[in-house]
Amino acid sequence: MITIKCSQCKRKIFKYNKIGKRRILRCWDTRIIEDYSIRCDNEVRCKCGNVIGIKESKSICPTHCTQFQSEIQSLYPQKYIAGGAGRIIEI
Ligand SMILES: [Zn+2]
Repeated sequence: MITIKCSQCKRKIFKYNKIGKRRILRCWDTRIIEDYSIRCDNEVRCKCGNVIGIKESKSICPTHCTQFQSEIQSLYPQKYIAGGAGRIIEI
């Protein structure tokens, strides 16, 4: 389970379920279990108004079973988020 929090107010934005052995997780897909965000057109916002992201943007969050983690990190340094069980990600 991954919890994604707002970096401004520390509210929870998503709870995200890591299941199985997919090599790359996208943070905006159907595995979001609990969604506390506000959607405004393509923007994903926290309740405090902080823009968390744009719906189309893809974050890459490899986990311990991901191959080529370091390659992914060097290819996508802006999008790379280190994963792990119980990981809390602030955006
Ligand atoms: Zn917030």
